[in-house]
This record gives sequence, structure tokens and C-alpha cells, in this order.
Amino acid sequence: MNDMDVQQASRFTVTRNSQAVSADQRAVLLDDPGFGRIFTDHMVTIRYTQGQGWHSHSVGPREPFLLDPACAVLHYAQEIFEGMKAYRVADGSIAMFRPQENARRFAESAERMAMPALPEDMFMAAVEELVKIDADWIPQGDGSLYLRPFMFASETFLGVRPAAEYIFCVIASPVGAYFKGGKKAVTLWVSEHYTRAARGGTGAAKCGGNYAASLIAQAEASEHGCDQVVFLDAAEHRWVEELGGMNVFFVMADGCIVTPPLSGTILPGITRDSVITLARQQGMTVREEPYSFAQWRADATSGHLREAFACGTAAVITAIGTVKSKDGDFTVGNGDGGIVTEGLRATLTGIQRGTVDGPEGWLLRL
Ligand SMILES: *Cc1c(COP(=O)(O)O)cnc(C)c1O
Repeated sequence: MNDMDVQQASRFTVTRNSQAVSADQRAVLLDDPGFGRIFTDHMVTIRYTQGQGWHSHSVGPREPFLLDPACAVLHYAQEIFEGMKAYRVADGSIAMFRPQENARRFAESAERMAMPALPEDMFMAAVEELVKIDADWIPQGDGSLYLRPFMFASETFLGVRPAAEYIFCVIASPVGAYFKGGKKAVTLWVSEHYTRAARGGTGAAKCGGNYAASLIAQAEASEHGCDQVVFLDAAEHRWVEELGGMNVFFVMADGCIVTPPLSGTILPGITRDSVITLARQQGMTVREEPYSFAQWRADATSGHLREAFACGTAAVITAIGTVKSKDGDFTVGNGDGGIVTEGLRATLTGIQRGTVDGPEGWLLRL
């Protein structure tokens, strides 16, 4: 920690949860945590008031917020979030994967949503405080502690303008594998009617509103027996963008990897950036360029497309098997991933777990 971090961290008032879950109960919960349904004993909150700045830094028992019915976020959805993980690494210490990137992206999301940017060192200090106080909740083995920093407009006011008050909060949830059934390939539904984000919109910001808009398409995917939805661009309904919460990659027979470019309508995933970096380090060619759904179908059918995968913090790297759309289905490769997907997953998870050396600064040990 540098001096700045120490200053920020020391600002937190810490109140231990007197009704914390017992070690025995915790062991039972950690045995099969699932995703996002179990929470730790504590939370971090920091408040913002226009004219006063950030204040009331607190680490305390996890508890509900008391919100006025006219609380701005309930009406105009001024809300952003992050998703990151803390791991128990090989030597027994605790590590996080590129958390500074989450801090930076959180500030960028805030700017787009006309919210005050939380200083990045304050974001880091908040996350570290929570991981430290709830360290016993980090599962052993394959699991990890999923951290959910978020911020919302807390002002009681129905006028339409950026709010003058906000609450920043971090909660934590121990998680196992994201998709039930572990590593098996996912089946995707191509949404040709609903879109996720348009140029000039909020597609590159990690905000709850993007998810609200994607849920009907996700429900449509479920109705068609698919695990996830994949969105096309809003202007032409032609170019592949991303899943509801994951970026996509295509592995071609010539060894090239293609992924849609960051054009303002897709979320700049940290896993996406890590995959691009690692693939290039391993000598592969990665092209960030538009890829159409028609081309995807043609390449899968001809065999030019060998593998496809989705990636994000929650599920890391997941092979894409069958793709369904109103014009019929097709399968990528053998429908079960392949050596490039497997290799990248092994490298990335190895770096995250401290068993493989990654680029300088990717693994932050607490
Ligand atoms: C969070 C998110 C991702 C993945 O980002 P990571 O930083 O890799 O976790 C991709 N798409 C959307 C829409 C997201 O919200």
C-alpha cells in the first residue's frame, strides 16, 4: 500500500457484525454456494453529497438500506456496478485479478451516467477492506469471493436531473461455478428483434439499466431452451456485439481470433482485454473487427470457424456450442469448445489462482 491508500483505508469506521454467521454454518453454506445467493457478514458504504464530496466511509454489518419511496434511483435508474473476484491462491494468500481496471471502469461508468467519479484509490481501499474483514468467506478450491461494488442515486427528489446524493457500496458473495454443469458449452439464442445498446447510448457503461433492457431477450432465450442471449448491433441488426453480460470471441481455422471492436456499444470487458493480451503473447493473431451473424453461420457451416467462446469475470471463459435463431440452428466446431478455448481458459485461471505467471501487475496480493 502507498501512503495514499493508508490514508483512505484509515478513514473507514469499522463495526464488526455481532450476529456474524458461525464457522460451522459458513462451512455448510460454502459447500455449494451457487452464484449470487449467499452473502458475507459485512458491507462497505461511502456516501456522497454534492458540495461535501465523499464522506461517512464505513465497514459494517450487511444490512438493508432505508430508502424513501421518492429515492431517485427507483425512478430514473441512475445506478452503476462492477463485478470482480478475490481468490485464495496457491500459497494460501488472497489475491485479486486486475482490480485497478475495475476501479477505472467504475469511474468511466459514473461519468457516462452523470454520477460523481469515486476516486480509484478509494474504490480499491473499499474493496480491500471488505475482502479482509470477510476473508473467511473465500471458498477453497474452484470457488471465489465475488465482489459487487455499486453506486446509486440516493437523493429523495423526483425532478429529472443528476442526483445530488449517492451511496457507494460493496457487498460480497462466495460463488462456485457460474453455469450449472461446470465447463460444458453454452447454447445461445440470437436476438434479432431486441437490441442491447445503440451508438451514443450506455452500452459501454456497466449500469443496471443495460441489464433491465436485456432481460426480455434473455427470457426469450430461455423459452427457446438456450442458456444465454447474443445481441446484434442496433443500427443494422447484422453485427455480433456481445452476450447480456459477456464478450465473445471466434477462433478461425487459420488460427486467427476475431472479436467485435470496442465501438461504444459493447462493454469493455477486463476478461476480453486479458484474453486479447494472452492470445497475442502466445503468438496468435487477434483481430478486433466487426463480424456479422451471417458470416458466423457461414463460417460455422463451412468449418472455417473452429471454436467460439464467451468471457467475463463471473464465468471466465465458456465455450459456445449451439447457436439458435428464428432461421434455424447451427453448431460451432464439435459443439464442445476446443484446444484454443481450453488453453486460454487454463492460462487465465492459472494466472488468477497464482499457479501461472502472468503479465506484470495482473495479480494483486492483499
Ligand atoms: C461485466 C460485463 C462484461 C464482462 O466484463 P469483465 O470485466 O470481463 O467481467 C461483458 N459484458 C457486459 C454487458 C458486462 O456487463
